Amino acid sequence: MNNETKLKCLSLLERTEYFDDEGELRIAGSDCLIIGGASIRAWAKVTEQVLGLGARVIMIEAGKKAGEQFADSLLKQGLKPEEMGDALELFLTRGGWGKIRAKIDIKKQTAIFRIWNSVTSRQTNAQKPTCHFISGYLAGMLTAIFGKNVECFETKCAAKKDEFCEFQTNSIPCSQIDSTSTEASLSQLKQ
Ligand SMILES: [Zn+2]
Repeated sequence: MNNETKLKCLSLLERTEYFDDEGELRIAGSDCLIIGGASIRAWAKVTEQVLGLGARVIMIEAGKKAGEQFADSLLKQGLKPEEMGDALELFLTRGGWGKIRAKIDIKKQTAIFRIWNSVTSRQTNAQKPTCHFISGYLAGMLTAIFGKNVECFETKCAAKKDEFCEFQTNSIPCSQIDSTSTEASLSQLKQ
């Protein structure tokens, strides 16, 4: 991680603002909420039980709005698009979403993410990927960074016993992602 970017992000985290009169806290100018991981998992599970396949769309779309809004806040705070991969790693990891590693190619407008112990896969067993909100959140952040609509797909999920959750953009087919450099780059980032 770039040291200057890390310091900028840590400074933003340390400057978390508390507005007791309004009952709000803001990180990087964005209003945030401290909520238990179990709440997010329950929301995902119940939504899926009640709505079936439609739940995925709701969670992805809600995640996209949230991710786009947070990335916009970071950009407004002066972070550059090329710093957003590092920023995303730091804020999401410190935010308890799981240990995240990101590889964002601004020029090609592609990205791949891996999350170990993601909040929506931990303590969860499933046949299919379960991290729809995170998938949407990452897509939303990329939408803000690239300035165009981006979708992300979860290609591996720890809830179905993969080693980690993995998300890729649809800008190019997964099979065409430069697997040698991507794997080499991500393998250096393992826990
Ligand atoms: Zn997952």
